[in-house]
Amino acid sequence: MILVLLGAPGAGKGTQSKSLCARYGLTHLATGDIFRSEIAAKSALGEKASEYVKTGKLVPDNLVTEMVAGRIEPGGKYLLDGFPRNLAQAQSLADIMTHNKAAIDMVLYLDLAREEAIKRLTSRRICGKCGEVYNVLTQPPPASGLCACGGKIEQRADDSVETAQKRLMVFDDLTKPLAAYYKAEQIFRSVDAARDPSQVTAALCSEIDKAASKV
Ligand code: AMP
Repeated sequence: MILVLLGAPGAGKGTQSKSLCARYGLTHLATGDIFRSEIAAKSALGEKASEYVKTGKLVPDNLVTEMVAGRIEPGGKYLLDGFPRNLAQAQSLADIMTHNKAAIDMVLYLDLAREEAIKRLTSRRICGKCGEVYNVLTQPPPASGLCACGGKIEQRADDSVETAQKRLMVFDDLTKPLAAYYKAEQIFRSVDAARDPSQVTAALCSEIDKAASKV
């Protein structure tokens, strides 16, 4: 099974990915997470990507596509989170699929209003060690500022108001048009992401199970 999770920054792709990967036995391929770890490791790829990630711009397509292609094995089961991000990347993904004699089973879109996305992004805090996500409004981190794992809880640099707005503009301009692209292929499903995370998970699973039962 190959799933693509689309949605604005802040729509809950990371949270939902964890649940879906556990339930369907998928490998989570999150391009944003990979870039952050490459940047932290100061690798050659990290050095190239750093300025783009910091300022909320898209990393050039060739770097992203090469990175993804190198991680998708023929016959593997994946959930793609944060890729593709524009039409050129969608075309590259189609090429990777053809090369692997595979196909995308479903593109799931987490639909969230821009104001809610901004609120979620700017109130989000993350443990630098285990990646646990907190939210100063709905799930405040402990007063110590430390996660249960002992890691320091921090705001992602690109979750500042200015950069979050930039990322949402990039999403509207470049990523949102992918909805029409995948609708035409009839593998697109949209889910209301403004609800409680567990309700969103239930809605996503219902779409996946419905499609699987038709095969
Ligand atoms: P995310 O964690 O998905 O919000 O991604 C964080 C940042 O990583 C983005 O703002 C981009 O700078 C970069 N990034 C992640 N995925 C992609 C992609 N598919 N194409 C280009 N840049 C990406």
